[in-house]
Amino acid sequence: MSDTVKLYDLTKDDFPRSQTFRSLQVYECPVCGALTNSAYYANCIMGGARMGCPLVRSIQGKNEWHKTLALKRELLRAPHPASYKSEMEKEIEESLRVHADKIINDIVGSPDFSQRAKGRLGGPFITWSVSNSTD
Ligand SMILES: [Zn+2]
Repeated sequence: MSDTVKLYDLTKDDFPRSQTFRSLQVYECPVCGALTNSAYYANCIMGGARMGCPLVRSIQGKNEWHKTLALKRELLRAPHPASYKSEMEKEIEESLRVHADKIINDIVGSPDFSQRAKGRLGGPFITWSVSNSTD
């Protein structure tokens, strides 16, 4: 991929309003861990730059595995006995291992991996924090 593509800094408000574009920041899917710097603009109330899992965006409607994994991660956030949590975590790890070939990063150019964020991003709610990871 070309390193000369323009990467827009999402902390500034100068990104395109009518097309997908590439960002300086990197989004990490909180479900499968895929990384992307593909962003688009949502033109609505509370609109703004949006980013999402490259897997979900590429095969809309055919991501049953991803939906199931998201549900498991959601269930894991509720209080459970330690043994249940442990089994659920093992299930999630196994699912990620089995489906590793589906998790494809979508990075173009040379984004700033220290500005990595998970979760839902949009408009004024974008908050970028420096990741603790060393990569
Ligand atoms: Zn994902």
